[in-house]
Amino acid sequence: AGRLLSYDPAKPVTWKSGEPVPYLFLAEIFESISETTKRLEIAELLTNAFRTILAAGTPEDLLAAVYLASNTIAPQHEGVDLGIGDATLIKMLAEATGRKESAIKSDYTKEGDLGIVAMMSRSTQSMMFAPPKLTIVGVLKEFRAIAKTEGTKSVDQKKGKIKKLLVAARECEAGYVTRSLQGKLRIGLAQQTVTTALAHAVVLHAETKDGKCADGKTHAELADRLGAAVDVLKQVFSECPSFDEIVPALLMDGGIDKLAERCHFRPGVPVKPMLAKPTCGVSEVLQRFSDVEFTCEYKYDGERAQIHLCEDGAVKIFSRNQEDNTPKFPDVIRALPTYLQEGVKSVVIDCEAVAFDRAEGKILPFQILSTRGRKNIDEKDIKVNVALYAFDCLYLNGENLLQKPMMERRKALYSAFKEVPGEFFFATAKVSRDVEELQVFLEDSIKENTEGLIVKTLDATYEPSKRSLNWLKLKKDYMEGCGDSLDLVPIGAFHGRGKRTGVYGAYLLACYDEESEELQSICKIGTGFSDEALESLSNSLKDTVIDAPRGYYKYGESVAPDVWFAASQVWEVKAADLSISPTHMAAHGLVDSTKGIALRFPRFLRVREDKTPETATSAEQVADFYNAQATKQEFNNGGDDDE
Ligand code: ATP
Repeated sequence: AGRLLSYDPAKPVTWKSGEPVPYLFLAEIFESISETTKRLEIAELLTNAFRTILAAGTPEDLLAAVYLASNTIAPQHEGVDLGIGDATLIKMLAEATGRKESAIKSDYTKEGDLGIVAMMSRSTQSMMFAPPKLTIVGVLKEFRAIAKTEGTKSVDQKKGKIKKLLVAARECEAGYVTRSLQGKLRIGLAQQTVTTALAHAVVLHAETKDGKCADGKTHAELADRLGAAVDVLKQVFSECPSFDEIVPALLMDGGIDKLAERCHFRPGVPVKPMLAKPTCGVSEVLQRFSDVEFTCEYKYDGERAQIHLCEDGAVKIFSRNQEDNTPKFPDVIRALPTYLQEGVKSVVIDCEAVAFDRAEGKILPFQILSTRGRKNIDEKDIKVNVALYAFDCLYLNGENLLQKPMMERRKALYSAFKEVPGEFFFATAKVSRDVEELQVFLEDSIKENTEGLIVKTLDATYEPSKRSLNWLKLKKDYMEGCGDSLDLVPIGAFHGRGKRTGVYGAYLLACYDEESEELQSICKIGTGFSDEALESLSNSLKDTVIDAPRGYYKYGESVAPDVWFAASQVWEVKAADLSISPTHMAAHGLVDSTKGIALRFPRFLRVREDKTPETATSAEQVADFYNAQATKQEFNNGGDDDE
């Protein structure tokens, strides 16, 4: 708190107070952030930037800065994303700077980062008539317009807007405009840091003056306030993930203290889902939950569907990643009223949607579900039926249930819905403490074509966006060995030989480090692929080949593949175990100070169509898996000693 107090937010201002804040101010902050890897320094730089905007900008400036720093342009569920392809950006850079496309491409190969190429290209330009300077609000507005442009002429319109931005960019601005357009800021700025900085900035703005705490508060009291504000903001953001609502509310009277009152969970806005931690067997579950009551439910293998019935009768279905999936399920939307009990006006439930054979009355494998269309499906074209397995109720008739215990939420679920054979079921559940009974329940769950069990404590609240220890998953795979499957990104491939000539024979896979935004190599994989899979994966990945690895790919030289890919797919992979590796870079620095972690004997399971490279298994999870494996070994060894 002391260091933050010594910063004078009004000093570095190069614009007239109240005028739109120049984009250059933010781009330079990004530049400073990219030059350090220290988390505290990064947080401080961003906090102070937000304070300056609070002191000499408008609420709109702050909102736009928060979006741009978060590498988003709108709330997730609105589905407004950038992610302009490299080819288009290279072309626009060439047009905006007067350089040849081939020169830009070759610089890109050398630098591995189009943002750096954009910055280099800019500095050689001089202009006769300087276009108006970019502002933070203006840049966000253009980004939104680019993302929303649709229709026949959209490609040209998008290109025109991109070119205009690049022409107007000064100094380092072109680099950050380019990276934001690509959808990757790549400066090591995690969403958590943006949230922390925003909370700190708002408190410091309201409660300090001329480098002193207001109201005679001590430094220690201020530090407590800062910590509490971060907790409040994180909680509110996970329940109401929309800065459009949060930032204006933070600036109202009462700010952070009244935030939870003003922005809370409600039907229509998806809450980030609660997730489960992996465990290695029934005995581990019993040990962890020795003094709490728990229930076991089948873990259905489909896709998560958070269904919202809003007060006005509208129905929305959101994915695990808060995408609006409503157009994918016209059949569910139509049938929903028949699943409801009388008197239900508004409700939010958590379900798993699985492919279902209505004639046979059984669950179909996940692969069948993924053959169902993705967008704007017409109900008459639907070939794959889905059944919903509901397992939680987060809101009912105006009441937010997130803070209620699981037991009560389940009662609410049972009171608001009724089962409809073949279409809507409550997740099969069992309460027991008997090892054998639980083992049988687990085996039954596998027979019913589910992945295993999720074990939940009955008194736990719903913890949005947390991989919580109150939910433990117990999968069939764990009976064979330890560990969960991992979701990894293919970043390169090796040419096949012998029977595999003509296709890629093996791949280099990576996990994603959310902190550093790196893709870190974790294993080479050549097992688990059918001939058809080898063929189709090769074909789909050929289009993503790039000349050189991106700057944010981390790997040991000895595992460098024959070809590199731009990150696009996510694959589910199962391994025998994890080990510390001198060549792979996964989770480097988290378990061992320099070395990474590698998977041993990895086997390909399937492509995860529902995941993007940023939602692949994180470096932190890899470290968790490694540590859990070590704990299990100790546990087992301990068991042996007793015998
Ligand atoms: P996975 O790769 O196994 O899907 P994940 O990280 O997406 O992992 P997990 O934490 O492993 O998610 O498991 C939670 C997911 O399991 C939920 O997102 C949901 O889609 C699914 N699921 C199926 N049945 C249940 C259930 N009864 N309770 C909670 N989640 C369930």
